[in-house]
Amino acid sequence: TESCLSAIEGSNALNAFVHNTPEISREQAKAADVRLKSGDAPAMCGIPLGIKDLFCTKGVLSQAGSAILEGFRPEYESTITQQLWDNGAVMLGKLNMDEFAMGSSNETSTYGNVVNPWRRGNEETPLTPGGSSGGSAAAVAADLCLGATGTDTGGSIRQPAAFTGITGIKPTYGRCSRWGVVAFASSLDQAGPMTKSVRDAAIMLEAMAGHDPLDSTSADLPVPNFEAALTGDIKGKKIGIPKEYRMDGMPAEIGKLWEDGTAMLKDAGAEIVDISLPHTKYALPAYYVIAPAEASSNLARYDGVRYGHRAKLAAGDGIDDMYEKTRAEGFGHEVQRRVMVGTYVLSAGFYDAYYNRARRVRTLIKRDFEQVFADGVDAILTPATPSAAFGLGEMADADPVQMYLNDVFTVTVNLAGLPGITVPAGLDKQGLPLGLQLIGRPWEEGDLLNVAYTLE
Ligand code: GLN
Repeated sequence: TESCLSAIEGSNALNAFVHNTPEISREQAKAADVRLKSGDAPAMCGIPLGIKDLFCTKGVLSQAGSAILEGFRPEYESTITQQLWDNGAVMLGKLNMDEFAMGSSNETSTYGNVVNPWRRGNEETPLTPGGSSGGSAAAVAADLCLGATGTDTGGSIRQPAAFTGITGIKPTYGRCSRWGVVAFASSLDQAGPMTKSVRDAAIMLEAMAGHDPLDSTSADLPVPNFEAALTGDIKGKKIGIPKEYRMDGMPAEIGKLWEDGTAMLKDAGAEIVDISLPHTKYALPAYYVIAPAEASSNLARYDGVRYGHRAKLAAGDGIDDMYEKTRAEGFGHEVQRRVMVGTYVLSAGFYDAYYNRARRVRTLIKRDFEQVFADGVDAILTPATPSAAFGLGEMADADPVQMYLNDVFTVTVNLAGLPGITVPAGLDKQGLPLGLQLIGRPWEEGDLLNVAYTLE
């Protein structure tokens, strides 16, 4: 804990930690020490962690990367973080993120961007760590903490993990409680661990997972011992390679990485099969209708009355002026864009054409996966991202859709509610990390982690 606290003090240039909590860290570390000495300590005892700012932490600023939650100190602790503390883990502080988890580069945060600890060759150009869990990814990659919580609505654990050379798993929808995690798109949101290794991810996921009566979508299923699943034996496992993920214009090195990963799994005794997920091309448009629709509804609660920021009003202003001014000042541009898109697709007259159609597409995408699993496939291997980390500000003038294209390999998993993991798989020619993604059967994170383990 002390070495992490001093590493964090020297890490201002990364802008990964946005609120440090050294008193809490030291107090928890002392308690962990007592438990460790008792000889009966749980797996996470004494492990210092960073917590994404999307998680409510009692009495500690929790702003979801947004100015509208200025000064918000929750009265309660999220179920996931509570479980981590009960398991002996130590909180180092809160981590930077895209505002309300909307973004792929951590550039929409009210705290400013995060800097990826990696550089292209000898270049000085600062790169994005990815997003929205950019602070979590950079903090783990730079050894500021031993693990971090992330959340993933359309790739926000897996894409930043790939951009920073770490491991990140999005569990099956319902595996981890969403209670106390600020909502973005409730039918897609799922939290998970971001760590240095697959083993760490298995241990941390076990501590985070479990049924929670406070979240009606949390699954009432036992949590398996994920670490015990890491046998390294994948003989006879069927690994599917989906042809639709071979996108036009995919850089040759991404293709090569994918082939190398396939060869590694084959060498380890897996059977490789070509598969088809025919509705893949509709996933990104369906996601960018469903996610903003749910966001526009979830973000209606930030009205200047209940939480955080309230705009200064002029004489004669009424309640509508208060809402409008507060939301105009408090929300950044990307969040405003999502609220407008979401409100539009849910409006009478357009609801069927956009929202209902996107929901039907979502069902087709889910069925594609169900079919492949019914045919005996155990896991699916794909690239994690269409490129390595890009330069900060590089996309600033681009059409927002350019940024959305980053999520092309990751959003299908959220739409289908499946578990997905990215593991570091090599470096590009400029020395930047690239990741591979494995997608698993629902509730079989243990198997998925084990396949990922053979790729490490
Ligand atoms: N990049 C995607 C978006 O902006 C995914 C974000 C996420 O998973 N939280 O919506």
